[in-house]
Amino acid sequence: MKNVLVTGGCGFIGSNFVRLIIEERPLWDIVNLDLLTYAGRRENLHDVESSPRYHFIHGDIADRECVERVFSEHEISTVVHFAAESHVDRSITWPLKFIRTNVKGTVVLLEAARKHWCSQGSWKPDVVFCNISTDEVYGDLGDSDGRFTEETPLAPSSPYSASKAAADMMVKAAVRTYGLPAVITRCGNNYGPYQFPEKLIPLFVTNLIRDKKIPLYGDGLNVRDWIHVEDHCRAILLVLEKAAPDSLYNVGASCEVSNHDTSRAILDNFGRDETWIEHVPDRPGHDRRYAVDSSLLQTELGWKPLIPFAQGLRDTVEWYRQNHWWWEPLTEQ
Ligand code: NAD
Repeated sequence: MKNVLVTGGCGFIGSNFVRLIIEERPLWDIVNLDLLTYAGRRENLHDVESSPRYHFIHGDIADRECVERVFSEHEISTVVHFAAESHVDRSITWPLKFIRTNVKGTVVLLEAARKHWCSQGSWKPDVVFCNISTDEVYGDLGDSDGRFTEETPLAPSSPYSASKAAADMMVKAAVRTYGLPAVITRCGNNYGPYQFPEKLIPLFVTNLIRDKKIPLYGDGLNVRDWIHVEDHCRAILLVLEKAAPDSLYNVGASCEVSNHDTSRAILDNFGRDETWIEHVPDRPGHDRRYAVDSSLLQTELGWKPLIPFAQGLRDTVEWYRQNHWWWEPLTEQ
């Protein structure tokens, strides 16, 4: 048996990850610590709530007492740290919220892991801290710049990506200074079921279901490297089970698409033309292009993405069509 602390398990990627573990790892117990911010909902795990292997704790990763209680009461041996403020637009308005959760919250978790897993410089066997980071810590790329590798220097451009880069640095510092067994994953843009309809794909899909136009930033030529959330979750699982301590892996499906072409692909799923696009002023400091080189993960651990973008997008549109109960209350706020 293994007791896995998942932080932010009521969010988009966290809930997909918890579901995967409950289905495929019968010897793992999950403790989900989530503050239930606007982005986190227990409904995201409605189908696993009754599992005896799933335990929900309503709490804040930046609250030291709460985090320490979770570690001691549940004998945590693995941390998969998703909890974050994750929306770039919100980080531009409220940068301090991002520092509190993404930086302070991560350090509180690192400190609890050290306190519970390390005694007089020796670490318990089989413990691991997995920090879920983002390719946005690398900044952005020009059209002819190649792709982000694990060696690309950090150059974050938004308060969100800067806070995630700071969290990564604190994890690296804990590895170097105290010997924490930690791994970091940096993934590109995810899409799939249970994504809050503030992010591009679910926003556009739920707008079109409601016969509303889709707001496209600037010239629409910003490029994102898309990956289906299930492919991301399987990569995290592989890293947890196979990666060496202190390793770092990029995760990406080599699926670069401009926001204009993504809009086009979504419109095609609804049989609509480009008159449904409404061009809106660009986001300040908007990153131009992301492209993730995940060859290290593929060659060292044998991961490969399985869900092609066209199919994943079709399934995602269908999921939002079938699950009005999930997203309609969010669009009324
Ligand atoms: P999300 O915004 O959907 O979910 C975040 C979750 O964290 C929510 O359940 C929220 O309630 C919880 N949370 C926020 N503050 C908390 C706190 N102080 N204490 C406890 N819980 C708190 O985010 P997501 O899209 O699922 O992203 C998850 C992680 O993956 C983040 O760390 C993000 O940086 C990273 N990531 C996301 C993407 C993407 O495309 N969505 C890509 C790469 C990496």
